[in-house]
Amino acid sequence: MNVKPHMAGVLFSGGQDSATCLAWALERFDQVETIGFTYGQRHDVEMACRLTVRNKIAETFPQWRSKLGDDHIIDLSGLGQISETSLTRDIEIEVHETGLPTTFVPGRNLIFLNFAAALGWRRGFSDLVAGMCEADFSGYPDCRKETLDAQMKAISLGLDWSFELHTPLMHLSKAGAWHLAEELGGAGLVEIIRHDSHTCYMGERGREHDWGYGCGSCPACELRAKGWESYANGL
Ligand code: ZN
Repeated sequence: MNVKPHMAGVLFSGGQDSATCLAWALERFDQVETIGFTYGQRHDVEMACRLTVRNKIAETFPQWRSKLGDDHIIDLSGLGQISETSLTRDIEIEVHETGLPTTFVPGRNLIFLNFAAALGWRRGFSDLVAGMCEADFSGYPDCRKETLDAQMKAISLGLDWSFELHTPLMHLSKAGAWHLAEELGGAGLVEIIRHDSHTCYMGERGREHDWGYGCGSCPACELRAKGWESYANGL
């Protein structure tokens, strides 16, 4: 009997969460491809970091190397044109009158998933993997499981093709995400993610902290530093 290989597409930005998801997918699926998006981010360091993380994971883990397939970059610069956010414009990071931080790019994850699914339809993905997280996060409504379930239903109907969406970090804290990385790839993977993944909203990679590079004061750095501290203290 022919069993179709399970081929997963990972939404991969080069941040801590998506780097962990990439390892998670490589552990589970026969073939894994990565998908990145450019949407007019103010800083392009993430795009450079994502290649470093991919390459180091392939170099360090021979059991995963043969499963790691193509990298796809999708240009969504139109999203940057219609988004007035701190990630795409020179705007202070603060809480907007809607109650959401100004780092919220409206609809970003919804748009990413649609494009990933369209690509997946062409590539024959059976699964999609993404790092959305409900817990310990900035309250982005497009990271909620309910949002993603509804969207995946629309995608399956609209493409007449069913993908399973996996969000292994959905209910994990940031410390929990470090523990998951350790379970998957031991200290070697933790070190790749700590040193080479990029999360800082300010695009800062000048100074290295215990928890990796970043400005140390934007909300993404604060969350990452706090998660690392809990993880390093065995919490
Ligand atoms: Zn920062």
